[in-house]
Amino acid sequence: MTLVTNLGFPRMGARRELKQALETFWRDPSTRESLLATARDLRIRHWRLQQDAGANVVPSNDFSLYDHVLDTAFLVDAIPERYRSLADADALDGYFAMARGVQRDGVDVHAMEMTKWFDTNYHYIVPELHAGQDFRLRHEGPVDTFLEAKAHGFDARPVLLGPVSFLLLAKTTDGSDTLDLLERLLPAYARLLARLAEAGAEWVQIDEPCLVLDLPAGADEAYRQAYARLAAGTHPKILLATYFGAPGDNLALTHELPVDGLHVDLVRAPGQLDHVLAALPADRILSLGLVDGRNVWRADLDIALKHARHAWEVLGKHRVWLAPSCSLLHVPVDASLEKSLPGDVGSWLAFARQKIEELRVVMDVCKGLVTACPALDDARERIAARRASLRVHRPEVASRLKAVTAKNAQRESAFPARQSAQQARLRLPLYPTTTIGSFPQTHEVREARAMVKSGKLSQADYDTFLAEQTAHCVRFQEEIGIDVLVHGEFERNDMVEYFGEQLDGFVFTRHGWVQSYGSRCVKPPIIYGDVQRPAPMTVRWSSYAQSLTSRPMKGMLTGPVTVLQWSFVRDDQPREATCRQLALALRDEVLDLEAAGIGVIQIDEPALREGLPLRRKDWASYLAWAVESFRLTAAGVADATQIHTHMCYSEFNDIIEAVAAMDADVISIETSRSRMELLDAFVKFRYPNDIGPGVYDIHSPRVPDVAEMVGLLEKASDVLKPEQIWVNPDCGLKTRGWPETRAALVALVEAARHLRAQA
Ligand code: GLN
Ligand code: ZN
Repeated sequence: MTLVTNLGFPRMGARRELKQALETFWRDPSTRESLLATARDLRIRHWRLQQDAGANVVPSNDFSLYDHVLDTAFLVDAIPERYRSLADADALDGYFAMARGVQRDGVDVHAMEMTKWFDTNYHYIVPELHAGQDFRLRHEGPVDTFLEAKAHGFDARPVLLGPVSFLLLAKTTDGSDTLDLLERLLPAYARLLARLAEAGAEWVQIDEPCLVLDLPAGADEAYRQAYARLAAGTHPKILLATYFGAPGDNLALTHELPVDGLHVDLVRAPGQLDHVLAALPADRILSLGLVDGRNVWRADLDIALKHARHAWEVLGKHRVWLAPSCSLLHVPVDASLEKSLPGDVGSWLAFARQKIEELRVVMDVCKGLVTACPALDDARERIAARRASLRVHRPEVASRLKAVTAKNAQRESAFPARQSAQQARLRLPLYPTTTIGSFPQTHEVREARAMVKSGKLSQADYDTFLAEQTAHCVRFQEEIGIDVLVHGEFERNDMVEYFGEQLDGFVFTRHGWVQSYGSRCVKPPIIYGDVQRPAPMTVRWSSYAQSLTSRPMKGMLTGPVTVLQWSFVRDDQPREATCRQLALALRDEVLDLEAAGIGVIQIDEPALREGLPLRRKDWASYLAWAVESFRLTAAGVADATQIHTHMCYSEFNDIIEAVAAMDADVISIETSRSRMELLDAFVKFRYPNDIGPGVYDIHSPRVPDVAEMVGLLEKASDVLKPEQIWVNPDCGLKTRGWPETRAALVALVEAARHLRAQA
């Protein structure tokens, strides 16, 4: 029988109840019972919500108190030694110690590493393994939650992260290959599957998203070995879930594995359906990922219907299930809570709940359960309204984009000529000092922003407050002798939101939170329509700051790729088209800053790297439009105007060519923690323009002294030309307090002077 199923549900709750409960517990361990009760309530509430929305089968074990990869590591006892006694004494304490580190009662252990889950903004905890280690099934949580669902009357399908993806996402501390551990790991999985079967689970969903990647050597053999082993023991039927792309060249391997069903993502990779159908082994179930688990838009149900009907024809009704493309972890809970969005934008949105309702409609229509389907008519009307909306399509944006030529993305002269023009204008010393933009966002700054938002502070008083903060920041930088100043970004809540709020084409939800890591949630802006800049966005504060000093003031913008990457993006045109629109809007801002006398402009692109596609073969085309968008933003200025960019959290080796093609006059990067290792890529490439390798790790309250920064700068000077080097922190200072900022920047200026004296 065809079923509506789901692969995973957001955990936090529509009002972020889990966040609240977690943070309360971390502050006050006596609230443990209430944390566990909140978690249980959320699980049950979400099962009910999914069932009411139309799901026949709901996921279990998709819930997590922190992260599902950490859960898996804990479950199979992959607990690094430094946490073991904590975990043995108290499982929950040990678990959170792995996630967050602990510093209490003489115990001081740092947290495990965290990294991005594929190309999402969700971060998982990286399992830490070593050669020859043992695994065992440490507890039976997945069985318990399956039984919990059953006790409440829900037909649940437990979700597990598959053993091969688990190992591929893990790292070893000794440089050995994680896949070497497969043989040792499998008994824990086999035992768990047997226990789930005994508990009455008919199906289990095993996620193997790594099947959509370019697999490393040995991985295909690992897949064969793993699933042969799991199929040999007692087990529920296995649904092998792939998502975030197509298995592609791994499809034959995927079909080879002895499982009972396969899930495929038809949103990211609609073209794969025929290939999958052509070779799907007989009797295997196919779960169709029909609605987008990664984005907030209502689906075009006619496309979903087409896929579903096609699969029905080929496989028969009993072999087809309907599902979202991937877990709904990456979208907010319920779009019906958004009551104050402009125009009809709200009616175009589908969050987790609406996505399951959409699948139900597809099912009902497909089955012929309904002849006239008002829900389908309604969905079609909304799609048609969105397609035709004048809020979405602004002819002037389209015609402006059409008129863009290659010349628009090209600076007037090559770097050497620009460099002398800029030097003539700016007259900077060797080893010039600057910062990345933000200064401490103190409690006072955040409070004033909250007050003006809630109406407790007038706009005029807020502006006065911001002017004072800015003036204080400028004075401070002058006093300690920074060469290129910044205004401090006190007026900005967030580096993307600040711009989104001032651009046409964006909306902001009230409850559209998604989990970023642990209890941390983000509320990404939604780009729903053509982007345009109705008025200058930053000129006022930058020119005010410039008016306070005779030193160069750096204008500060977030680049088009980063705005794109940290938003929910419209799905009715290619991402690159939206990115170019952003670029043109930001280009206007760059030119207005220049016209206002700002001679140095920084365009931050910290998210450039994280936009890289999952498959190597797709990198070049992404990098081409990403770089072009940056250039389009920057290239309108005269030679004497200096363009900076800033990128953090980044490895550069495999993208250095693209970074060089951005052709910023100066790039600042994060290098202090790697002790300048991240510079290697620039050195090898003979990167020609200026570089500011960070000498102050702003992620830590620790203040480096002059000698330490001199040491780092000497290392940089060994491999770069001194005329190329800027002196700056790793990133913005917004999370730091004033005392450490002051101390660190004084030392930073001193270090630069030291280097100048030596040169
Ligand atoms: N200009 C921004 C700041 O200083 C850059 C932030 C970032 O790179 N993430 O805060
Ligand atoms: Zn940064």
